[in-house]
Amino acid sequence: MSQNEMDQLRVQMDDVNLEILELINRRAEIVQQIGQIKNKQSIKRFDPVRERTMLDHITDNNSGPFENATIEHIFKEVFKASLELQEDDHRKALLVSRKKKPEDTVIDIKGAKIGDGNTHFIMGPCAVEGYDQVAEVAETIKGRGLKLLRGGAFKPRTSPYDFQGLGIEGLQILKRAADEYGLAVVSEIVNPAHIEEALDYVDVIQIGARNMQNFELLKAAGDVNKPVLLKRGLSATIAEFINAAEYINSRGNGNIILCERGIRTYEKATRNTLDISAVPILKQETHLPVMVDVTHSTGRRDLLLPTAKAAIAIGADGIMSEVHPDPAVALSDSAQQMDIPMFNEFMDELEDLVRRLK
Ligand code: PEP
Ligand code: MN
Repeated sequence: MSQNEMDQLRVQMDDVNLEILELINRRAEIVQQIGQIKNKQSIKRFDPVRERTMLDHITDNNSGPFENATIEHIFKEVFKASLELQEDDHRKALLVSRKKKPEDTVIDIKGAKIGDGNTHFIMGPCAVEGYDQVAEVAETIKGRGLKLLRGGAFKPRTSPYDFQGLGIEGLQILKRAADEYGLAVVSEIVNPAHIEEALDYVDVIQIGARNMQNFELLKAAGDVNKPVLLKRGLSATIAEFINAAEYINSRGNGNIILCERGIRTYEKATRNTLDISAVPILKQETHLPVMVDVTHSTGRRDLLLPTAKAAIAIGADGIMSEVHPDPAVALSDSAQQMDIPMFNEFMDELEDLVRRLK
């Protein structure tokens, strides 16, 4: 074969490649249209019966030189890519997705702008136990120039016999201390029926890990005009986490902070396994601010600082951690809350890190 012949064949090959490219993209456009119809009708995207019919139709018409098995394999790859395309389009439609809204969502909580590129801190006791306890922590965090005070009034405990929280009285205590020190309140609500009542006391509605897929609670939080801090479920995938946020946003409330708080794995050295890579994934896939709760993810006081450093370095918008005036007597999470001197050291180190990263 002369060089000339070879060149000509290569030109033909390039033309055929472009024809295949055009056809494959034309096919993809049809696939997208079908995807939209399926989406409206809530029909499952993957349809094996239809795939089998298409493959049979193709191989019935195959006159070689490729064998039917090879043709089936090639078309199966095309089908798979098409399915992924439909799924991508579906994700694109999510209100919380970066594709839908490229710019970062910034949430203003009494002047603390979460998602503005600075590191924010949500600090406070695991549970509200009384006014003095909360006020001592409030005074401390105010002294450090922080704005966001946490504290659980409704505690969704693993055991029904553990301290369940002070309820509305707990919210009243938090509000009183927060007002005295000019702070904003972040507190968990567990019952959809309590959302309205809580609006008078909280600046951020926290939805806890155990309730990430409590869809009625998500909807109720989505119906009000109050920022929501949504924690990742105990064994939730990132896709499930994003969809939980979508539930809130779909009702109209787009002020959502995602909070990675560790997931359940086989590892016993920590209470949960902090999925640190979830932070950049969530930041890429969504436009929402992402915080990391180092207390519940590690369950270990000695790991609070290193994991908080990792979270800041990897791009988290903020850190949540627990501080108690006397952790030894705390009614919940006594092994993992910081006392006030430890909290001050923790903040010194993190402020230093933030300065160095700038
Ligand atoms: C909390 O932050 O008080 C809490 C109970 O955390 P989680 O829902 O992540 O377990
Ligand atoms: Mn706790």
